[in-house]
Amino acid sequence: LIGQKADKEGFKVYGVGGFIRDLLLGKDNLDIDLVIEQDAISFAKLVSKHLNGDLKTFSQFQTARLTLRSGTRIDFATARIEYYAFPAASPEVEESTIKQDLYRRDFTINTLAVELNCNSFGKLLDFFGGTKDLKKGVIRVLYNLSFVEDPTRIFRAIRFESRFNFNIEEQTLIFIKNSLETGVLDKLPGERLYEELRNIVDEDEAVNTFRRMDELGIFTKIFPNLNVSQDKLVKLQNIYDILNWYERENKQKQEKFVSKEAMVFSCLLQDQPLPIISSILERLKVPQKIRDVIITTVKETESLSSKLEYTEKNSELVQNLEEIPLETILFVLADKENQKIKNKIYYYLEELIGAGVSITGEDLKTLGIKPGPVYKTALEEVRKARLDGLVTTPEEELEYVLD
Ligand code: ATP
Repeated sequence: LIGQKADKEGFKVYGVGGFIRDLLLGKDNLDIDLVIEQDAISFAKLVSKHLNGDLKTFSQFQTARLTLRSGTRIDFATARIEYYAFPAASPEVEESTIKQDLYRRDFTINTLAVELNCNSFGKLLDFFGGTKDLKKGVIRVLYNLSFVEDPTRIFRAIRFESRFNFNIEEQTLIFIKNSLETGVLDKLPGERLYEELRNIVDEDEAVNTFRRMDELGIFTKIFPNLNVSQDKLVKLQNIYDILNWYERENKQKQEKFVSKEAMVFSCLLQDQPLPIISSILERLKVPQKIRDVIITTVKETESLSSKLEYTEKNSELVQNLEEIPLETILFVLADKENQKIKNKIYYYLEELIGAGVSITGEDLKTLGIKPGPVYKTALEEVRKARLDGLVTTPEEELEYVLD
């Protein structure tokens, strides 16, 4: 459809970037990146008439994003048009437009493009040796100053390296090290740094990426005094294992969202003094909700685990855990080795969380109890009794109230 529309309306369209890279690697990618050698927004509007989806346009960037019901996202970007390019440009000039667009990209493996117009459909454009590097498993920049121009590429390089189990090419690694030496990360705005860290957190191979960050001295460049020991890397892996377990367990239950980044940041920052943690979170412009969870987790992990050690009754277990963010509870599982504490948490998450009572205020009314704050107390007491196995049926709950 895209090729047909492009031909009919006189657009030149290419599939580019990570989408082509992943296609050649045989990996799924829900984001389709298109570059259009004319106005991308007009083309996106044409296509969106034929595909059911939500179109957003960004005129300042000359881009548009079409999100389909299936979850697939199609990004439309206008190729950088040089002053000498014009609608009836010769093929050489047209090619140079897409070529220049691709030259501005981060790594050779992300510079591949495929023509989508019908007459040349499927033709692969590889100006910078992307296919060769993809085969060799190499991450290579296109020019020396790439990391100075955009330091976020340092994070992208190590992220792709771990994700695909590739290697950063020797010269590219030297460029990374040199740019780090000159302090490129100091100038990176906190928001962008945070976005790159979040992208890493979301990777399956995040722990390897963190290990690599540490090897290259990136952590200390961004957070002085931060020590990412082997022990910390093990704990980070525990966090991912726990999160995978939790997700598997709760797939059907539609449990509440757990912030992976809050847990990972808690682990990274755990041994820093609170004012330092706050200033790091402030620098990164971490949203307040996530900040609160991180601070609670760092503050509460020790006291919570010692409390749990002496908790015997189910009702006490619930009382200790109910008001605590889920991230903090899962964090204790990843952070602590004490199996007794872990078992209590597992039991809470698997059996007790969300447990309620059968009777309601209406039942209390029929018992002749006058409505008031006493209802809340009565129902809470019944809940505790139910959690501790003192009552098991609605009848027993009512009797318990009367007692
Ligand atoms: P992911 O699979 O993590 O989404 P991606 O490369 O597929 O990564 P994006 O991060 O959305 O997807 O980037 C799309 C394309 O834009 C990349 O393939 C690359 O060509 C280009 N790109 C993205 N970020 C940069 C950057 N910082 N510098 C240069 N080119 C970039």
